[in-house]
Amino acid sequence: MAIYSSKPFKPALLLAALLAACSAPPAPLAVQAIDADTWLVQGAAEEFSPDNRGHISNITIVNTGAGVLLVDSGGSEAVGTALAETVAALTDEPVRWIVLTHHHPDHVFGAHAFPQADTLMLAGAWRDLQRYQHHYLDTLATRLAPEGSSQPPAQPFEQPPRLLAPGRHRFGDREFELLELHGHSGADAVLYEPARELLITGDMVFWQRAPATAHTPSLAAWIQDLDQLATLPVRHLVPGHGPLTDARALAANQRWLRWLDQLLKQSAENGLSTNEMLDHDLPAEFADWPLARYELTRSASHFYPAYEERAFADSAMAPKGEKDGTEGEKTPAPTGP
Ligand SMILES: [Zn+2]
Ligand SMILES: [Zn+2]
Repeated sequence: MAIYSSKPFKPALLLAALLAACSAPPAPLAVQAIDADTWLVQGAAEEFSPDNRGHISNITIVNTGAGVLLVDSGGSEAVGTALAETVAALTDEPVRWIVLTHHHPDHVFGAHAFPQADTLMLAGAWRDLQRYQHHYLDTLATRLAPEGSSQPPAQPFEQPPRLLAPGRHRFGDREFELLELHGHSGADAVLYEPARELLITGDMVFWQRAPATAHTPSLAAWIQDLDQLATLPVRHLVPGHGPLTDARALAANQRWLRWLDQLLKQSAENGLSTNEMLDHDLPAEFADWPLARYELTRSASHFYPAYEERAFADSAMAPKGEKDGTEGEKTPAPTGP
C-alpha cells in the first residue's frame, strides 16, 4: 500500500495500514498529495466487490484552514469509516463539508461516516439519489456484503443535504468555482479552484478507465460539457475514477465518447445485432483500460436501441438525410459508477 503525504508523516497511518493487511476493515486508505493541503484517495479500477468494500471511486481531501472539505465519500460506510481515519492521520481539523459530485452509489454512501459535516449536492443529484438510492442499497448488499452478513454496507439518506448552486463557494481559505454540468449523470458538480488551477471533475472525467454512461442524457451533451472544461487552465485534474492527471484526460474522454457514438451509429446503419456490434475491436488507446469491454457492453445495452430506431427512421423517411451527429434518449440503467 503506497502512502504519500506533503505533511510530516504520521506513524499512526503506517501502523494502521500495516494492520489492515491482516485484519478486517476499516483501515486508513492510501493517499497521494496533489498540492499543499490537498490529497487524492484513489479508488480501485474495479466494479463493487467484497474485496474493495466499495472503494472504487476517487475522493479528494482539502484542508481549508477552517475544517476539511471532502469531494465525494466512497461507496459504503466501511469506506467512509476508513476515510475518517485517513483524514485524522493527515490533520487535526474536523471534516466540515462534503460535496457529493453526483448521485451514483460509489460516490455518496461513505458520507454517513461524517454525521457532523454539512453534506452538499446539486438539486438534480439529490432528486436522482432519492429516486434510486433504495435500488442502489439493494445492489450494494448483494455485491459488497460477505456471504451471510446481516449488516447492510450502507444506509439511505434520510435528511436532505444542503443544495448547491453554481457559482463561487468559499470553504475556509479555499475558493472554488462550482460548475453544474449534465453529461455524465444528468446533474454533475465540478469544482475548480482558480488559485491552484485544480479541477475536481467527479465522473465527468474518467482517466485510464473506461467512462460509464448509465445515466448519460446523450453522448453529445457529455462531449459539449468537456469542451467547456477544456477552456479552463488546469494544472491538476482529479478524475472521478483513475489516477491524478491533467487536461489531456478531457480530450481522451471525448475520443472515447466520439468513438462510442460512431460505433453505435455505423453498426445501427449497417443493421448489426448488439452482439455483432460488441465484437468490434477497441481502439488501441483504450484496449488496456480497465473495464473497457464491460463499459462498452453497458453503454450498448441502454443506448443501442435508440441508435437502431434512429437508423430505421432515417432509412425509411430520408434516403440521404442529413446527419445530426448524436443519438436519442436512453433508458437509465440500474446502477453505475
Ligand atoms: Zn463513479
Ligand atoms: Zn458516476
